[in-house]
Amino acid sequence: MKRPLIGITTHPSTAGAGPADQLPAQAAYVRAIAEAGGVPVHIPLSLMEYDLAVLFDRLDGLLLSGGGDIDPALYGALPSTSLRGVDAARDRTELVLARWAATRGKPLLGICRGLQVVNVACGGTLIQDIGAEHAGALDHDGPDRPPSSLAHPVRLEAASLLARLLLQDPLETNSAHHQAIKALGRGLSVAAWSRDEIIEAVEVAGHPWGVAVQWHPERLLERSESRALFSAFIQACA
Ligand code: MN
Repeated sequence: MKRPLIGITTHPSTAGAGPADQLPAQAAYVRAIAEAGGVPVHIPLSLMEYDLAVLFDRLDGLLLSGGGDIDPALYGALPSTSLRGVDAARDRTELVLARWAATRGKPLLGICRGLQVVNVACGGTLIQDIGAEHAGALDHDGPDRPPSSLAHPVRLEAASLLARLLLQDPLETNSAHHQAIKALGRGLSVAAWSRDEIIEAVEVAGHPWGVAVQWHPERLLERSESRALFSAFIQACA
């Protein structure tokens, strides 16, 4: 198999010349992609759109990584007081990449914030703080939980690519997000729900391989379904 090049978007603090590989969060994506047979490439947040397009064209697949909140102005909402880690360069870079990947059929895996980026790129909106806005919500945030601890199961939609790939329903997941999808973006379908009716995965309808999950499979690589998800992504990219 030709080893595909997988672009991984970066956190603001890892976007410069610093040792991104040494940061645990970014290193987990790199390891997951490499172990599944891909070659990871960090995408800087400082590129002009023309250069970003050159890089995008060379990539075989795109991984939109986890991180802080998207500026609510980008989905037509006023900011709540609970926003964390908004970064204009990251929003601009990732929304462009997500639109390109969704509309041009490049394999796309969104993780946590990456799912929210895909939704906003497709015209959707976000719950800015689940605890404040969603009555009866589970603890999706869990800042004191270890990254790899299981938090809640999700129920997969039978017709989804995820259900066909993972062959596990319900699926146990970790959870480290305080935002979630509110209005679903155009051309997306829901692939997984938590029992408090939070959307936990979406797919790009009619796309060769466009999947985004609200949990962190890269932090659960000891579980076979996490490895299966990365393997399927890399096979779609190859
Ligand atoms: Mn969750």
